[in-house]
Amino acid sequence: MTAVLEALRGRNQDQDTRRTRHLDDTRTMTTNGQQNGMILTHGLTKDYVMGAETVRALRGVDLRIDRNEYVAIMGPSGSGKSTLMNLIGCLDTPTAGEYVLNGQPVQDLDDDELARIRNREIGFVFQTFNLLPRATALHNVELPLIYAGMGSKERQRRAAGALEKVALADRMDHKPNELSGGQRQRVAIARALVNEPSILLADEPTGNLDSSTSSEIMDVFDGLHGTGQTIIMVTHEASIAAHSHREITLVDGMIAEEHLKTPVPTGH
Ligand code: ADP
Ligand code: MG
Repeated sequence: MTAVLEALRGRNQDQDTRRTRHLDDTRTMTTNGQQNGMILTHGLTKDYVMGAETVRALRGVDLRIDRNEYVAIMGPSGSGKSTLMNLIGCLDTPTAGEYVLNGQPVQDLDDDELARIRNREIGFVFQTFNLLPRATALHNVELPLIYAGMGSKERQRRAAGALEKVALADRMDHKPNELSGGQRQRVAIARALVNEPSILLADEPTGNLDSSTSSEIMDVFDGLHGTGQTIIMVTHEASIAAHSHREITLVDGMIAEEHLKTPVPTGH
């Protein structure tokens, strides 16, 4: 749950506009300029030190993901998929290597800037939904906006809009235990989208769902991608990965295989 709270938490939007503007400038530069890579990693490495033992979770990952891509990260359990997602989502920092997000080297950012990026640029969807059990769907979706310091009227308007995008306009006042698994995950997707993040990260989003509910969720992702959303999802199911345009397979913390299936759409 800590990762979830971290993912939702951002600094007050009024703070530090100078740095915000700098981030916007670099984003414009990468959109218009020669380099369109939204996510660029070089030699990305993550070691977990556990007492005398060190787990080498990622061992030099070079990755480039462009705007509007729909990427699946596959690989066996323990291959480093979640570790990579956590680094991409700025939930964790690498042991070595570089990561440039929207033209900004992430290692240069301080904790507040990282929190701001998590809140503004990244939407997370987790296998276990991670909704607040006693809060309505609407309130769950409002959470990232509360952390962003937004007033309640605007918050409710935006949260309701996000719930409409996932076809849950008629369930806003329901609590998680009054919703099906698929509906809960759709609330979580709405929460991930409410700040209009540039990247949607989903770690095994259908891992807890049956196959017909999984396809309901994949319809949502496909629709979002159709409107220009950049999506990176982790899955170990081929039928889920089949929705993506590019598959990257991790084995033992390294990219073992990469497979581009259809040309990346442009122009959004
Ligand atoms: P996947 O998502 O592909 O199943 P993970 O990224 O969760 O793989 O894990 C990669 C490796 O790192 C595994 O060996 C796992 O046990 C280890 N690992 C993951 N998170 C931690 C952690 N917080 N502390 C120590 N080891 C970890
Ligand atoms: Mg995992």
